[in-house]
Amino acid sequence: MHELRLEGVRKAYGPVLAVTDVDLLVPAGELVCFLGPSGCGKTTLLRIVAGLEAPSAGRVLLDEADITPVPTDRRQFGMVFQSLALFGHLSIGDNIAYPLRIRGVPAARRRARVEELLELVRLPGVAERSVTQISGGQRQRIAIARALAMEPKLLLLDEPLSALDAKLREAMQIELRLLQQRLGITSVLVTHDQREAMTMADRIVVMGERRIQQVGRPLDIYRNPANTFVADFIGTSNLLPVRLAPGGVRFADRVVQVDRVPAGLADGAAATLLVRPEELHVRPGLDAAGAGLPARVAFVRDLGSIVEVHVDCAGSRLVATALRKDQPPLAPGQEVALDLPAEACVVLAA
Ligand code: ATP
Repeated sequence: MHELRLEGVRKAYGPVLAVTDVDLLVPAGELVCFLGPSGCGKTTLLRIVAGLEAPSAGRVLLDEADITPVPTDRRQFGMVFQSLALFGHLSIGDNIAYPLRIRGVPAARRRARVEELLELVRLPGVAERSVTQISGGQRQRIAIARALAMEPKLLLLDEPLSALDAKLREAMQIELRLLQQRLGITSVLVTHDQREAMTMADRIVVMGERRIQQVGRPLDIYRNPANTFVADFIGTSNLLPVRLAPGGVRFADRVVQVDRVPAGLADGAAATLLVRPEELHVRPGLDAAGAGLPARVAFVRDLGSIVEVHVDCAGSRLVATALRKDQPPLAPGQEVALDLPAEACVVLAA
């Protein structure tokens, strides 16, 4: 297993800054996901890892050795890109064996390795078939088998599942993650899909505005986003404009209790309150005791297993989700009280 490290990496294309200030450790055996919106620099960063781009500054290290000047074909990394780039005129077996053939591996060894890899990606016995005769999900597995053919030190995946339809894509996320864990191969995955990142990653690198915004385990990032950009990008968020007040934050004319506030924010300072939809509870009727925030139901989306309630509260639209069996029936226009548990309220600097 191999460890990857990026130190002070920066890349500019002439006057265009693609990515900057990247310091990152990808521990041996982990799958790390670069997640962010279009144009945030995630592909550029992966191409720097692959050696397809030279950084304008900084270093790429593999097991503490500086590989920044090492050309792509000498890095021994396996790569799968969105376009797959399988050869239509070659059989499945010849596609997988291609990297072995160009490195002069003898035919008998190539055949044995192809069978081994087809077993690994759960497609045994299809070596003679044409890549044009198989489904999108199967082609995906062939591309992964080919990337693994040379027993790469790292597996680099750039939006490898984005051409698949939603259902197959979700199934392949699990399959690919299980394969990566079984092989223990250090991997980097680029995606703009936060569900994919949450499903597959040991650690997520959230990127935005050409730099890393936060690195952490998926649930830690979900629960404690570093800023409003991350909160908004990972999962669904209710983000409310608030001001710091003694014991909590002021929203509309109420004080909402919170357990923690970021250091350095004084009373009266503007901030953003994050409450996840599953932490927001909607009770029918106005709250005489005054503990809940008064709101009005705007829309109820009944999804069968869960119910999503959209409410308007002091000029903000909020979304609450609950298991259907736990949510008392509500109708649009109905007056309700909102409960925001203090431990689930995250205050972010505005
Ligand atoms: P996407 O998800 O759309 O692929 P990304 O997060 O992978 O986006 P990059 O492709 O890394 O983003 O691009 C980051 C920035 O660098 C963008 O502003 C892009 O226009 C710019 N850029 C990327 N490659 C080049 C290039 N070869 N020449 C000039 N600018 C480039």
